[in-house]
Amino acid sequence: MVNIDLSDKVALIAGVQNEYSLGWAAAKKLLAAGCKCIFSFQGERNIPALEKLTAPFGDQVLMLEVCDVMYDEQIEALFEKIKQKVGKIDYLMHAIAFTPRETQENPFVQTSREGWKIALDVSAYSLLALAQRAAPIMPAGSSIVALTYYASEKVVPKYNVMGVAKAALEATSRYLAYDLGAAGIRVNCVSPGPMRTVAAKSIPGFTQMLEKAAKTSAMGKNATFDDVGNMCLFLFSPMSGATTGETIYVDGGYSVMGMSFES
Ligand code: NAD
Repeated sequence: MVNIDLSDKVALIAGVQNEYSLGWAAAKKLLAAGCKCIFSFQGERNIPALEKLTAPFGDQVLMLEVCDVMYDEQIEALFEKIKQKVGKIDYLMHAIAFTPRETQENPFVQTSREGWKIALDVSAYSLLALAQRAAPIMPAGSSIVALTYYASEKVVPKYNVMGVAKAALEATSRYLAYDLGAAGIRVNCVSPGPMRTVAAKSIPGFTQMLEKAAKTSAMGKNATFDDVGNMCLFLFSPMSGATTGETIYVDGGYSVMGMSFES
């Protein structure tokens, strides 16, 4: 058993709304490793849930801050507060995605300009927007992790413009990996298979997706929240010190299958 001690580190986790959020899966692992955490979330309505979730971790939780990533001024305000109160961050967890409902209910070919803009703005540009403010206060050895999905490279019906947004997110992480590499900041994506979260439940046919993914994966099962959290922890920790610009699947080997005899 390897002991990862991150007690001198600070993480900003963007995008936790409840205990089922994948951002929380990563946060739990960071907190268990002694890391101090700052949580940012979309709106004031998220505060009670976040307070309840983080209460057991006491002083390890440094800040709970509202930051809707569609607004530059809210991102600026978040980093200004972090600079003043904490001074640095070592890790940035991006666990944010959104697309208007109609973009997943209607065929992809009907996606509106507005739907496209919102999906790519919230789900992909936000990584760049957060990283460009985080980088100046990230020391060498820092790490950024974003959550993506397989629909970035293959067609997953109903995922639609969110697949396009995930492709943009992965490309953004590679360009950031290049820009920030010389400063010793790594940037990677973790790509979980389908997981039962609030965001996922809005995808039409999600339960069928869960069952099919488990059946047709190499391991015959879906990943767990623990699996996803552990991969994030690995990518934050010095154990992955020369890994950057990668998209790493945590999906029981679903993405490596070319054909399955399961129906
Ligand atoms: P979730 O609903 O718990 O998390 C999504 C978060 O995005 C929420 O906290 C929400 O408040 C936040 N968000 C949306 N719009 C925002 C905005 N404008 N500003 C700030 N925050 C905003 O669901 P999740 O499944 O844990 O999603 C986290 C990440 O994991 C997403 O990027 C998602 O695409 C990705 N992912 C999920 C699955 C899955 O099956 N659940 C699979 C692969 C990847």
